[in-house]
Order: sequence, then structure tokens, then C-alpha cells
Amino acid sequence: MRVVVFDLDDTLYKEIDYLRSAYRYIAGQLAGDEVEREEIYSTLYGAYWEGCDAFAALMERYNDKAMTKATLLHWYRTHKPQISLCNGCREFLSRLVAEGCRLGIITDGRTVTQTNKIVALGLDRYIPDEDIIISERFGSEKPSPANYLHFMDKYGAEARFYYIADNTAKDFIAPNRLGWTTVCLKDNGQNVHKQDLSLPDDFLPKYTVEEFGDSLFELLNL
Ligand SMILES: [Mg+2]
Repeated sequence: MRVVVFDLDDTLYKEIDYLRSAYRYIAGQLAGDEVEREEIYSTLYGAYWEGCDAFAALMERYNDKAMTKATLLHWYRTHKPQISLCNGCREFLSRLVAEGCRLGIITDGRTVTQTNKIVALGLDRYIPDEDIIISERFGSEKPSPANYLHFMDKYGAEARFYYIADNTAKDFIAPNRLGWTTVCLKDNGQNVHKQDLSLPDDFLPKYTVEEFGDSLFELLNL
């Protein structure tokens, strides 16, 4: 049996799309009209690209007493995002299901935020809730082995385990040690967390692929 587990952010979809979606939502909440909506969005997105605190920039510009950082953060984390799977991802997931592979997710973050993303992407149609490991509700974060052992306990050590992810700092070290096949989806330049391929071997994926395409199918013998 093959058990294929995915990271979520910057693996199954691009996290920058979540950021854009959240900024659009915030602009919609605050603006009185279309022009103001665009201004607010541009202020947030511009500050982000300049490496500044986007919410501080917005509060400085609008100086609205009713606007607090807590409210902005709450909207950012709890809005229902408009995001979509990476190119080729849906076909890949369908093929895995058709081939009888078992799928899972290991992601770090808040339960509400990550669940909203998973529902928006339609991933709950492919993956049972118990195999969606979100750090907040699970109780530990990567690189804790516990998050990966969930799958080994469930499917038994004789299954073949794969982890497909993007973050060299924390994604691959535990599954490498547990004997999983680790695969990194290469940053196309948009990733929120940059990949560091100069880390010790323990941290690095066994394979790197550009996208959800033929090389990934070959890696899984599909
Ligand atoms: Mg990631």
C-alpha cells in the first residue's frame, strides 16, 4: 500500500494566494466603495512586498480608531479564502485515488484557518478528516515525529510512505528519519518560506520536482 501525505501551504496551493484573498476580504470589510477597496488592498499588498508590517501600514494610513490589529488578524485568519490548487494537482490527486493510494495532510497552523483552506480547495472530498493532521488540533508541530507516526500507526510499517512538501527547515527531517520517501516541490519564486538547500542532508528531501506532473507520477510508479 502507498500512503501519500502532503503539506498544505505552498505545496497543494500557493500561500501568496491566501494572502491576496485575505487582503481582498479585509478591504471589502473596511471600504465604503470600490475605489476605497482598491486603495486598501494596494496599501496592504504594497506594504507586504516592501517587507513592512501590512496591518501597521494600513492603520497608519487610515487612522481609524475602530480598526485594531486584532480585528485585522482575526479577519485574515478566519475568512473563507478564494484559492485554488496548483496546476496539475487535481489530476494528480484523482490518479492517486484511482490507483488505491491512501492520502493525508500534515500541516502546521490554526485549525480554523487550515480547515477553511482545505474546504475551499475541495481536499475534504479526497482525504478523510482523521487523516488531516493540523498542528493546533493535533497538539504538535513539524518536525515532531508524532504527526507522521499517525499514518504509520494507522497503516502499519509495511506500507510505503511519501511526504510531498516544500519547507526544508521543518518538513523533511522527521519523515527522512522514519524511512519515508520525501519529495520537495520546488519554489517557483512565489513561496512565502524560502527553501534552503544548503542545510545538512537530514533536512533535505530525497527528490525534488518542479510541479505536479510526469516526474511525480514516475516517482510513485504510477
Ligand atoms: Mg508548506
